[in-house]
This record gives sequence, C-alpha cells and structure tokens, in this order.
Amino acid sequence: MNKPFDVEIERLTAPGSESIRPLLGLAQAPERGTFFLETFGCQMNDHDSEKVAGVLLARGYRQVETPDAAGLILYNTCSIREKAAQKVFSRLGEYRAKQSEGKIIGVLGCVAQQEGEGIFERAPWVSLVCGSASYRKLPELIAQLESGNHRVTGLELDTDETFETEITRRDNPFRAYLTIIEGCDKACSYCVVPYTRGPERSRASDSILREVRQLAELGYSEVQLLGQTVNSYADPTPRKMRFAELLLAVAEVPGIRRVRFTTSHPSDFTRDIVEAMEAQPKLCEHVHLPVQSGSTKVLRAMQRTYTRDEYLGKIAMIRSPSRSQRISSLVFPANPKPILNRR
Ligand code: SF4
Repeated sequence: MNKPFDVEIERLTAPGSESIRPLLGLAQAPERGTFFLETFGCQMNDHDSEKVAGVLLARGYRQVETPDAAGLILYNTCSIREKAAQKVFSRLGEYRAKQSEGKIIGVLGCVAQQEGEGIFERAPWVSLVCGSASYRKLPELIAQLESGNHRVTGLELDTDETFETEITRRDNPFRAYLTIIEGCDKACSYCVVPYTRGPERSRASDSILREVRQLAELGYSEVQLLGQTVNSYADPTPRKMRFAELLLAVAEVPGIRRVRFTTSHPSDFTRDIVEAMEAQPKLCEHVHLPVQSGSTKVLRAMQRTYTRDEYLGKIAMIRSPSRSQRISSLVFPANPKPILNRR
C-alpha cells in the first residue's frame, strides 16, 4: 500500500471526472460493470463498505443506487443480533430472482464469516462469501468471479494485517472514518466478533498518520478512529505509539479540527487517554464506553474483564474535577441480549 486515495463517488462519476481518474490510476481500468452495495450493522461495517467500494471503483466498476441497475450485488452483513442474521437470508431471498437475470450476488461481513459455505446451501444463487478478516483478498476473489468462477470464498481468520485499500470511497465529505485496529482478543461470552473479525491486528501508526494527512489535504476536518476495542490499539512499528499518543498525533495534523474514537473497552481506558483529552481540545469530549451490566456477577458471566466498581472508577476518572465542566456526552448503550452462539 503505497498510494491510498480517498474520493467521493461523485468525483469519479460526475462530468469532469476524466481528469481525476488518471490521477488515481483508473484510466487503465476497463469498464467492468456496475455494483450495488447494501450495508447493515456498525460503523466498522460502514467503513468496510467504503473500502470495498474503493476496491471495486479501482477495478473499473461503477456504483449504482439499486440492485436492478447492478451487475454485482453485494450485501455487507451484521450478525450481532439473531434478527439481523435472519434478515440477511430474507434479503437474499429477495435477490434470488436477480441471479436468473445474470447478476452476481455476494455476501460480505459477519454473517458471511459465521455461516461460511453454509450460505451456498441455503442460498445457492450466491456466488461470493467473504468475511471481513479476508477483505484483503477481495480483488483476487472478484477477479475469480470475473473469470467465470461461480463460487468463491474468503473465510480465513489468520489475516495478520488490517484491510487497507488504494481508494476508499467515503460518503461524508467532512468526517472520515479510519479503522486503526481490527478484530478482538477479548472473549465476551455473548459476542461473535472474535470469531467473525478474527484476532486483534493494529495498523501501523505511520500509515494511520499518513492517511490522516491525506484526508486533511482533501478537506476533511473530522476523523473518527474505529476499532471494536479501539483503545486496545498496539502500534506494531518500533515506534510503539500508545493510543493516547496516537490521538494527540492525529489531532496535531494541520487541518484536522475534531477527533473522535469508538468503541472503547473499559479495561483499556487508561488515565493517559483522559489526560490527552484534557490537553488537546480537538479530541472531542465524547466517550463511548459500553457498560454491558451494572452487576459484577453478570459481568463475570459475560466474561467482561472488569467489575461494577472498576467501571465506576473509570467514569470517576473521566469525570475528574478538572474535566467535569467539559465532558458533554457519555453514551451508555442498553444491555445487548446475549443471543449469539459461540462456535
Ligand atoms: S470486547 Fe467487544 S468486540 Fe471484543 S468480545 Fe467483548 S463485546 Fe465483543
């Protein structure tokens, strides 16, 4: 990855895009057809879809707004709730007739990883099944589809790098999502993420900062750093930047006015993060710190790695006297239902 670009779809499709496409190395990409991409789930999925769209645009595909207009229909799925997984198969049922029209149908994301080749059994009209830990293989998988393969899969979890693309097609012209850590090494009893997204892999700090500088040059003023446990970030480079240091470095990039991060794990929410927020006003006073339960007994059963008192201690630290006037929003989600089966 030596030349990542970030573009809005309009800049590639609008009149005048001819001058941009060569800059992105797209001039040589032959017209390959159209794709429709529907996304369910969290911000990580939203951002994965932005990167998937970038991969396809770089190969010469054009994004369209409806499945009817598309040759390739992709469905980026979520399995955090049982209902969400059921919805995938119901939506795939709607797409069944599309295959007979010569369209290629693919399932990406957590349901793809969880159900694997079983999707071909339940929905034989699907041609591509790829979990998020294998997105780096997407160009290769798409090439296999283009050469006539009818069933291709990317289901490996042993990916040791995060998913980076040459082009990311972002929807919001001001705020950019940026994944800094993939997967999760925790083992909460109700959660499918360690199985669907694989073990934790952090992105190199220099690569993150290079992309933030490019984002600023492109006019983005807000960056939201993403990770399932974003504050467990562990810089794989010799620099070994801590998460708090990374936050400060991102905030110092000229042109960046606001920095957010989500989702944080209470056990890894350390004092230096609070100190960084205190010292740097560009770090927004917005902390997403899932509590999951107010009962230590239940937290233990959930295999969360903190007690009720430890959680309250983190809140007290965040709301330390010097900060109490400044913290404006703490977001506590409702308890998720423990509905997922572990495999
Ligand atoms: S820390 Fe979050 S992502 Fe990781 S297993 Fe627990 S709930 Fe899932």
